[in-house]
Amino acid sequence: MKNIMKIKRMMKSLLDIPFVEKIKYISSLRPEETAILIIDMQNDFISGSLRIQDAETIMNPVATFQDKAWIMGYYIILTQDWHPKNHESFASSHLKAKPFDKIQGIKGLDTLWPDHCIQGTIGAKFYEKINIDKCHLILRKGFNINVDSYSAFKENDGSGTGLNSLLLERGMKNIVLLGLATDFCVFYSAMDALEGGFSTYLLSRLTKPVDNELANNRLKEFLDKGGFILN
Ligand SMILES: [Zn+2]
Repeated sequence: MKNIMKIKRMMKSLLDIPFVEKIKYISSLRPEETAILIIDMQNDFISGSLRIQDAETIMNPVATFQDKAWIMGYYIILTQDWHPKNHESFASSHLKAKPFDKIQGIKGLDTLWPDHCIQGTIGAKFYEKINIDKCHLILRKGFNINVDSYSAFKENDGSGTGLNSLLLERGMKNIVLLGLATDFCVFYSAMDALEGGFSTYLLSRLTKPVDNELANNRLKEFLDKGGFILN
């Protein structure tokens, strides 16, 4: 309860804090030890088949943030949801299922989604304001037809994507996350970053959830595990 109040206060306070202050705070993390993970900023999540409410409103600030982070020398990673047709996470791949139904998965209930981010389609492309020339790595996930992958670090069956080792080999100690959606791919990536031993920061103003209440609960879980939420 206390933490929920804390999050609510933070959410409220964010609205009053000019964007530039956030950049100033992030700049206290050393670029050579800090990876910035920009999660799934793709057409389908912003204006397409799995549109997240108000996602468009964070596009300009995300683009500005990416530009500044690039100039300052942070290690920038873009993740890209990259599903084959008939992916198991699509409701259309299951008899009589509708988008947002839940089915029993490997680790509890999985959500079924509208078809989205299919390899090679416009929906899977990065939103126009995301500059792919200003990143060091594009990490694709969810390309195994039978397994979804919310996290940039691990597929939903627990197998690693290799990102953890790559970041350790590059001497990274801090991870800063932003993007879509707060309660799914951002959250699971953030929790795996903590598990990997990284100091983990979530930029709450540069992320939007599928479900507000779920996002609040998951942010609380992230704080309880030792994560930081930045304004
Ligand atoms: Zn997906």
